[in-house]
Amino acid sequence: MTRKLYWEDAYVTEFDARVTSAAGAHAVLDQTAFHPRGGGLLGDTGTLGAVKVLDTVKGAEDSVVHVLESASPLEVGSQIHGVIDWERRHRIMRMHTAAHLLSAIFHKETGALITGNQIEPEKSRIDFSLDDFDREKMLVYCNQANEAVAKNPPVKTYFMKREEALKIPGITKLASVMPPEVKDLRIVEIEGYDLQADGGVHVKTLGEIGKIEPLKFENKGKSNRRMHFTIP
Ligand SMILES: [Zn+2]
Repeated sequence: MTRKLYWEDAYVTEFDARVTSAAGAHAVLDQTAFHPRGGGLLGDTGTLGAVKVLDTVKGAEDSVVHVLESASPLEVGSQIHGVIDWERRHRIMRMHTAAHLLSAIFHKETGALITGNQIEPEKSRIDFSLDDFDREKMLVYCNQANEAVAKNPPVKTYFMKREEALKIPGITKLASVMPPEVKDLRIVEIEGYDLQADGGVHVKTLGEIGKIEPLKFENKGKSNRRMHFTIP
């Protein structure tokens, strides 16, 4: 198991760790601030010592695997200094938190279910299932999201017992896909707007998003809709 420094503090940009396994271009550390790919989020990039980290993925036994640019020159047992590409990661945190907020507002206003999302540093998208497709309304919801950003509520993360978390309306659909052996679910709460079981990285307050700019609304079939957005 890798200690997940990004869960303790999503703002850790540099850290020291010990190499616990190194095979080919893959390295595992005893702890890391690199967030792995998953849940619509890209994996972090940066450096471990002098070596570039091109991607970060989930590994076996709750480990985090750093994908290096070349076959691993890291020695098992050695100490290493990790640095995250913070500019990229911070944009991902802002984009991802914006996706939470938009999803919560769309769901509240229309009952739409979120079927997927892809968060990238420059542009992101959310897919949702909704029969009625009205661009004007979509823009109204985006404005509501920006009003929420301007109010700057805190974004909190904490762990909750699985049984307790599953009682919260709206959380069930997401939480139910978590493997049953996960006893404590990590909760992300945008105070007053959204509560979800989620393992991602988020900003501390909504104001940090700045502004959500809708780019395009697409019809992807009978009831599949896609919204593209960015944050300037
Ligand atoms: Zn999240």
